[in-house]
Amino acid sequence: MEIQENIVAGTHVWIEDPELVFIHGIVLNIRGQEAEIQTSDGNMVVANLSKIYPKDVEAPAGGADDMTKLSYLHEPGVLHNLATRYEINEIYTYTGNILIALNPFQPLSHLYDAYMMERYKGVPFGKLSPHVFAIADAAYREMINEGKSNSILVSGESGAGKTETTKMIMRYLAYLGGHTAAEGRSVEQQVLESNPVLEAFGNAKTVKNNNSSRFGKFVEIQFDKRGRISGAAIRTYLLERSRVCKISDPERNYHCFYLLCAAPPDEIERYKLGNPTSFYYLNQSNCYELVGVNDANEYLATRRAMDVIGISRKEQDAIFGVVAAILHLGNIEFEKGEEDSSVVKDDESKFHLQMTAKLLMCDPGELEDALCKRVMITPEEIIKKSLDPVAATVSRDGLAKTIYSRLFDWLVDKINVSIGQDPHSKCLIGVLDIYGFESFESNSFEQFCINFTNEKLQQHFNQNVFKMEQNDYRNEEIDWSYVHFVDNQDVLDLIEKKPGGIIALLDEACMFPKSTHENFSQKLYQTFKDHKRFIKPKLTRSDFTIVHYAGEVRYQSDLFLDKNKDYVVAEHQDLLSASECSFVSGLFPPISEETTKSSKFSSIGSRFKLQLQQLMDTLNSTEPHYIRCVKPNNELKPVILDSNNVMQQLRSGGVLEAIRVKCAGYPTRKTFSEFLDRFGILLPEIRKQNYDEKIACKWILEKMDLKGYQIGKTKVFLKAGQMAELDAKRAKL
Ligand code: ATP
Ligand code: MG
Repeated sequence: MEIQENIVAGTHVWIEDPELVFIHGIVLNIRGQEAEIQTSDGNMVVANLSKIYPKDVEAPAGGADDMTKLSYLHEPGVLHNLATRYEINEIYTYTGNILIALNPFQPLSHLYDAYMMERYKGVPFGKLSPHVFAIADAAYREMINEGKSNSILVSGESGAGKTETTKMIMRYLAYLGGHTAAEGRSVEQQVLESNPVLEAFGNAKTVKNNNSSRFGKFVEIQFDKRGRISGAAIRTYLLERSRVCKISDPERNYHCFYLLCAAPPDEIERYKLGNPTSFYYLNQSNCYELVGVNDANEYLATRRAMDVIGISRKEQDAIFGVVAAILHLGNIEFEKGEEDSSVVKDDESKFHLQMTAKLLMCDPGELEDALCKRVMITPEEIIKKSLDPVAATVSRDGLAKTIYSRLFDWLVDKINVSIGQDPHSKCLIGVLDIYGFESFESNSFEQFCINFTNEKLQQHFNQNVFKMEQNDYRNEEIDWSYVHFVDNQDVLDLIEKKPGGIIALLDEACMFPKSTHENFSQKLYQTFKDHKRFIKPKLTRSDFTIVHYAGEVRYQSDLFLDKNKDYVVAEHQDLLSASECSFVSGLFPPISEETTKSSKFSSIGSRFKLQLQQLMDTLNSTEPHYIRCVKPNNELKPVILDSNNVMQQLRSGGVLEAIRVKCAGYPTRKTFSEFLDRFGILLPEIRKQNYDEKIACKWILEKMDLKGYQIGKTKVFLKAGQMAELDAKRAKL
């Protein structure tokens, strides 16, 4: 890069630092490719020129509210700017049209009160300080003025603040598009109250976030001709099913279980509940309570929200009956019976079996059979085969997961039906709150799907950032035809290409009864031997690594086949579709012979891919707005900003990618007067006379002998490194 040539003795620079990521220093002298630098913490270091970045000494003290205003658009500049702002509680910063939101981890209620909503209403984007309301307002105005649908994509890692941000957007849109008169249950109220209900059933405490959403969500808010909310639709993605029966300390199961255990005494009696510590699905972890949350109050609040949405009291009772049934189900233990069979263990287990059957309104004997036996159909006869206690436990947990995920889907459907769709609405604003990129020590099928989602969204993001850049260039009438950049289509092909992609190969493997995860992985190794984005790690027979845009992720393939297969055990299906409770049987509508025969199995991966494609189609028909939420530290504490962590998120959230796109063209853009303020000194004669600003800028650039810059209608566009070159020249005067 050219930047380095402009680093001279006396230049203020950023250098890489293992702890702080970047540290500020002053160059003392340069020898060849090495510079000797005095760092701000008083050390002397020698660093290679390629690891040194110029620091803008004239940056405003409180940071820039838009990163594109930074003179040096590079990683240390971006990080320093965010940190400077976070220190003074400025949690929002723009990068052009993208909003970066740092989680304050403390209530900043003054930021979101009625006064603030009033303030942002109708004000052109960029006039006021960066804010989530400004993004929502821009989306709304664009929709009204141009009759186009808009979308707001909120992303970030767990605990970064996506859901809180989404709720803020929805509140602001309800404020703009609300119906003034008190109309009882208005559409916007219903839309807002869908949040607590979905959170009660789809959120849980994890190590990363006390209120972590365990599903993805796209809320489509529809507006009528007058710009008032007229309907809404919610789509959800991939609820984490395993949590229902398996949790690890110090996490919790879904909130609804604890809320129900804190219900008023008559309900506790009716459902035969009690202390959450007595239920296996809850007592695998030692965490039962959340700091600052009263489950009893939350239970009542959830019921009230259900009232607003239009879920009847009778339905509510049925819902919580099912939740209670799942807790009892989890307490049914098995022991070895005759031969390889299993029986319900003791009186306590028998009691829970009775309770489960009672709450699900099915026959206890049939429930026991459905848990402990499998019907085998051979050409000769139909036989009932017994399951051993381990298999019966797996069967029990499978049933719990199936019931819970059906319940969740029912709630989503119900919310959609209650709020209602507006068939006449031409305009909508979609808000996407979906899990960010994940890379753990051990990564399985869930991470694969999540990261696939993020690749898709990243491509959409890149394309749009690029498009916005081009618009900027076009408005300024400058030549941008040679600005190229590479996107992540190759990773997407690797994952989703049909035939031949990983999902397709996984489906193939799932259809062969004899497949194992090992031969699935072997197939991947063969097929993608030369793929740039695929790596077979050393010393493994089944792991594989994908080189994602945000970094390499190593996946363990052992559960891929199982997790990709979506089927409900026939015995479970039969049991519950015969329930005397219409709510329960409604969760298990009979399956037609056709579907059971026509498809051997239903693939979660392929269905997810399809859902994702539909989401992308919707998004592609809208004007997108982006919000990148960033989690400043893992302690969930205010004020602290962990640079390494933040840098990683900026990388995986595509913020740096957006900056890369900008850098591919002209990372520095200054209005003529800004440019003259800073560099007029390079050509003193122009100061003496009143030249046209544009001509003056041109003269300076020509005199300085720069190549490849562009002069637009109102701004000077500089290529990477040119700003530093000019600064260096100025410093030498
Ligand atoms: P997940 O992916 O796990 O669902 P998330 O990105 O949705 O995470 P949130 O649940 O929105 O994260 O935020 C986590 C917590 O951070 C909130 O419960 C809240 O305490 C705090 N928080 C987030 N945003 C804000 C904000 N704007 N003001 C104050 N606190 C916030
Ligand atoms: Mg969330």
